[in-house]
Amino acid sequence: MRTMFSTADIHIHTTYSDGVATPAQVLAYVAAHTDLRVIAITDHDVIGGALEARDLAGEFGVEVIVGEEVSTREGHLLALFIEEELPAGRPAAETVAAIHAQGGICVAPHPFGMLVPSVGRHGLLRRASGLERGWPVDAIEAFNASLWLPLNNGAAARYAAHRALPALGGSDAHHLETIGMGYTRFPGRGVADLRRAILAGETVACGRRWFWGPRLLTAWLAARLGGAPDLPVAA
Ligand SMILES: [Zn+2]
Ligand SMILES: [Zn+2]
Repeated sequence: MRTMFSTADIHIHTTYSDGVATPAQVLAYVAAHTDLRVIAITDHDVIGGALEARDLAGEFGVEVIVGEEVSTREGHLLALFIEEELPAGRPAAETVAAIHAQGGICVAPHPFGMLVPSVGRHGLLRRASGLERGWPVDAIEAFNASLWLPLNNGAAARYAAHRALPALGGSDAHHLETIGMGYTRFPGRGVADLRRAILAGETVACGRRWFWGPRLLTAWLAARLGGAPDLPVAA
């Protein structure tokens, strides 16, 4: 029997942090304009948007992973498959342990991004496995569609291959039109299959980059300045 493959975007922001679109708008866009079967909502330091998206997902035929992009002292970490919100500002080691304690999967997002808080800049990925223990990330975001410099993604992909860590692709979308521009290809269909594929190292990171051009920047600034950015705005 031939294996069926699906795609997931494991890195999306909503109005619950600094995204432009509400969870409902994200789901409607994914259903209408992409072939993604699974998305992870990964707002900065909050999971309210992810929980809301998971509640609404059935109406849209999309499966949602509750995630969070946690701001640790040493850079961003993506927590996937979590149920409890993780606090910002802790040492990365504590955050990794807290993700694992609730059965989550810890991903190093944009690990070598130079213009974003990334753990690679602090040398922490060297400790992910091997000589320096204590940062057992489970996977690497080997393609992040928001990074300006292609070499930053190249370094992440090489790192993942070198350490034999699962490679994931995410859009880091803050706008509807960039959702799915980075994605993860995996055998199977839904959330459970993706989780299994990540743990088995069977995922492939794919995509093409987007840029913070004047249009996206203006939309983002308008959304940020136009209301209370930490709260969902009217759809
Ligand atoms: Zn980030
Ligand atoms: Zn992000």
